[in-house]
Amino acid sequence: MSGHTPVVALVGRPNVGKSTLFNRLTRSRDALVADLPGLTRDRHYGQARWGRRDFIVVDTGGFEPTAEQGIVREMAKQTRQAVAEADVVLFVVDARAGLTAQDHDIAAYLRRLGKPVVLVANKAEGMRESAQWAEFFELGLGEVVPVSAAHGQGLRSLVDTALQRLGLDEAEPSPADATEAAEAGDGVIRLAVAGRPNVGKSTLINAWLGEERLVAFDLPGTTRDAIRVPFEREGRRFELIDTAGLRRKGKVFQAVEKFSVVKTLQAIEGAHVVLLLLDATEGVTEQDAHIAGFILDSGRSVVLAVNKWDAVDEYQRQLVQRSIEARLGFLKHAPLHFISARQRVGIQALFTSIVRAYESAMVKMPTPLLTRLLHEAVAFQAPKRAGNVRPKLRYAHQGGHNPPVIVIHGNALQHVGDAYRRYLEARFRKAFDLVGTPLRIELRTQD
Ligand code: GDP
Ligand code: GDP
Repeated sequence: MSGHTPVVALVGRPNVGKSTLFNRLTRSRDALVADLPGLTRDRHYGQARWGRRDFIVVDTGGFEPTAEQGIVREMAKQTRQAVAEADVVLFVVDARAGLTAQDHDIAAYLRRLGKPVVLVANKAEGMRESAQWAEFFELGLGEVVPVSAAHGQGLRSLVDTALQRLGLDEAEPSPADATEAAEAGDGVIRLAVAGRPNVGKSTLINAWLGEERLVAFDLPGTTRDAIRVPFEREGRRFELIDTAGLRRKGKVFQAVEKFSVVKTLQAIEGAHVVLLLLDATEGVTEQDAHIAGFILDSGRSVVLAVNKWDAVDEYQRQLVQRSIEARLGFLKHAPLHFISARQRVGIQALFTSIVRAYESAMVKMPTPLLTRLLHEAVAFQAPKRAGNVRPKLRYAHQGGHNPPVIVIHGNALQHVGDAYRRYLEARFRKAFDLVGTPLRIELRTQD
């Protein structure tokens, strides 16, 4: 395995329960960011975390065979791409309906691909193992894993099986888990430049690399299959992570591959800071909003830059600003820059923000300081009573980096409302001067 976050694709005929399973698998990371303004989720791609393992889930949804044409031929392009990009395929069948001709066709297709496949029999709630599964062995894909996506049964063993096929152990942290690298203290800022084709990613990167000498230095874990370019700027070491199809051609970078959501997701997962580049001439598109949603879910630090600012007039500028407020309201913590990569305007300030976003993600918050800030916050404004109990916030410590997590201990904390949580978050953000990074607050109550 490379250092990439593994990709799991869900494949199967319509109605077997793929999207239900997708929601189950990805919900593990959704919890904190439910209802934010502008946030629309991509129904086909999601990030998941089980144990300490991160992975990406793709719901192909695209096996829509028609009677006249073979299933493989009818397979949506999107589905083929998702399967091609997957490390392991979960082939979902319906335990109640039993095997169909379509299932056989899909199985034949998957066997030819030679990828690891896990056969999943969904809707298996209340069914006993044994004879009922026998027919699924006909598919020649080995053991069947019974689950009930609707009732949340069998999922852990499904994830375990999938990870085992990849030679991974759930208990082991992901190699792409930036927290681990940070604790190893290599100090290299891993930067992913994300954005749709043609927003100017290559132009910007070439502008950066053209200004600075490319300094090669050894990086542990640099893999063959991922393009990771080390460079140095103002004494800071960076590693540029390959996103959607940036390829090096001689001395310059070019976007030669078609856009790949999976690659973008992998780059986001592997980064400390994600620079999301937008195009001023187009405003915020749906695809931009989806990428932004992925970044939010990943917990990575984010900086927004609207490129091609040179190419738009005052009226268009206002439209862009409004579309950012409307569609990317959930990234309020991200610094926003208006730049021209081509004319090299705004590049320096953007760089400063990237470094600050990294430092914010990696901030060290000593327990005595956190606890003092907590007490000051409570003294300024105490949490509301719930009936005749008032939550008591006693002390705080840091629970992690990238994103920083603050763990607050006390009593009756289950009565602390969202508004108060946001109040605390704002106080801590200000005190530590955090930009770009999400800040997570966990409440641990003693009673
Ligand atoms: P997809 O077309 O493969 O994405 O399937 P969906 O996720 O949309 O599910 C199709 C139908 O099966 C829906 O009515 C679901 O509620 C139902 N379903 C999904 N998972 C289960 C399950 O575990 N048990 C049962 N009994 N029904 C399920
Ligand atoms: P990528 O696909 O995101 O890597 O985008 P490119 O860097 O290849 O840029 C796509 C197009 O936008 C090219 O024609 C660039 O010259 C142009 N472009 C990039 N940056 C700017 C900019 O700041 N202003 C203007 N007007 N055009 C730009």
